[in-house]
Amino acid sequence: TATLYVVATPIGNVTDITLRALHLLALADVVACEDTRKTGALLARFGMNKHMLAAHQHNEREVAAKLIARLVAGERVALVSDAGTPAVSDPGARIVDAVRAAGLRVVPLPGPSAAVTALSAAGLVNDRFYFVGFLPAKAKQREAELAELARVPATLVFYEAPHRIDECVQALAAAFEPTRQVVFARELTKLFEEIHRCPLGEAMAWIKSDANRERGEFVVLVEGAPQASDAAEADAERILQILLSECS
Ligand code: SAM
Repeated sequence: TATLYVVATPIGNVTDITLRALHLLALADVVACEDTRKTGALLARFGMNKHMLAAHQHNEREVAAKLIARLVAGERVALVSDAGTPAVSDPGARIVDAVRAAGLRVVPLPGPSAAVTALSAAGLVNDRFYFVGFLPAKAKQREAELAELARVPATLVFYEAPHRIDECVQALAAAFEPTRQVVFARELTKLFEEIHRCPLGEAMAWIKSDANRERGEFVVLVEGAPQASDAAEADAERILQILLSECS
């Protein structure tokens, strides 16, 4: 049956491509991608030269119609993004939606994603995480969104565009308690990979301590809000300490 394959690609280190992704890409008749130069370079690394179709935010619907026609004609179609997993803070969801609506099969090929990679090395002990992705660029909207997130009891996962990390850290420091743990995962799987954990109150000093930190790609993780039961326990402990000190 006609199938769209949604293929994750590396987020830095090209050897993170999966065997299944290589096999499928080699068989594909057409590869839908964000940027034909970037995907062309990745394919060339593995000796492939494929017909590509550029699909970005603004033409996803159009491209979806073309891909559906190719699928119906019996072609094998792969969908990739510039890096990581398509449709995760990347184009792809509209194409997948249209292909599914046309009654065709969609098969995901799992692989790298910056969010999950960062979570795996953060050591923030919480079974839950809340994927925020990119915060709004406008200050007012960003503040409103962070205010809503302040009480979420799950690890918060943010993506940040290169060059905007300062603004992001300032906004986080204004919205959350300075004692919350924050983890910066920078340039994951690349030569200058860095994973740093500190209280939010110390985050700006860390960013500023090396000019290179204002470059590169970041995933920023923020420890979730303490759960009501944790807060109640902390209150009980505090009251107990006061009573004990009164007794002595
Ligand atoms: N689809 C991708 C995924 O599955 O992770 C995300 C694409 S999104 C347009 C790009 C953002 O992902 C960057 O701004 C950064 O926040 C994060 N990112 C991608 N690659 C990264 C890397 N190697 N190290 C740290 N963050 C990365």
